[in-house]
Amino acid sequence: MEKNDLLSNIGGTGAVLLNKIINPKAGSKLYAKLESLNPGGSVKDRPALYMIKNALEKGLLKDNMTIIDSSSGNTGISYAMIGAFLGIKVKIYAPSNMSEERKKVMQLFGAELILTPAEESHDGAIKRSMEEYARGGKDLYYMPDQYNNPCNPLAHYETTGVELLSQTGGNIDYFATGIGTGGTILGVGKRLKEYNDKIKVIAVVPDNEMHGIEGWKYNYSLNFEGFDHNKIIDDFIKVDTEGSYAMLKRLVREEGILCGFSSGANVYGIYKLAGKYSGNFATVLPDTGSRYLSTRVFADL
Ligand code: PMP
Repeated sequence: MEKNDLLSNIGGTGAVLLNKIINPKAGSKLYAKLESLNPGGSVKDRPALYMIKNALEKGLLKDNMTIIDSSSGNTGISYAMIGAFLGIKVKIYAPSNMSEERKKVMQLFGAELILTPAEESHDGAIKRSMEEYARGGKDLYYMPDQYNNPCNPLAHYETTGVELLSQTGGNIDYFATGIGTGGTILGVGKRLKEYNDKIKVIAVVPDNEMHGIEGWKYNYSLNFEGFDHNKIIDDFIKVDTEGSYAMLKRLVREEGILCGFSSGANVYGIYKLAGKYSGNFATVLPDTGSRYLSTRVFADL
């Protein structure tokens, strides 16, 4: 990575105050990081870069090898974008019901996309990518394994969390966000707690398994070495899908931010928390709404 190359522009996203959603006059503020400003259009550029850089440095990813992984979309796009830039082949397994825009973007970057049955959800994509990895072996493939690779939370620990502290002057009482791999909450959460152990880290979670929040997992597991979720996550808040969609609409129409479903859900979670507690809240808006234009939700917005 060189100064001013594409990859050096990953991270360093702006943090905006959402004053229409959380009125500062009521004694609370909400800072949200605009992760769609990353070159690949989402928060997942950060861990994808960390995992790939680490694999190159350790010799796990060599010339002519292919990066293989499963992704519901954003991580796959980040691998595909970084792969295009570095000249590395990328093969992604993803559920067939992910949005058309995401499929198209991965393919435009030159990645090979293998669609897995929608009814198997993301777990099916994970299982099938593992099977192919086992068939091809470590000489053919490098699997970043974003669910277990500590470089995923490390990216957020070293970048997102540090940026949030400097953008808020360290004035944060609550950090709340959803869980896909858990990289964001664990990495940012650990950094914030090291700065001030009074900062509460709250996981925003879906209220049922059939939720429609792309990027989030209902049955998640958090197993990253060096990032103990028991020491990082203080509490959980449940959100329903319809309320999250309604909040997404407010973000678009009132704050002027065309973001994705998980952004709406994160902010809805904080909106609920702000009804109980006051203070400074922070979150991330993981991706852009332009990735979901063909979905029912955006048709109704
Ligand atoms: N929102 C979106 C849109 C995502 O793609 C992801 C990643 N799957 C997340 C939220 C969750 O982030 P993390 O994997 O860091 O938990």
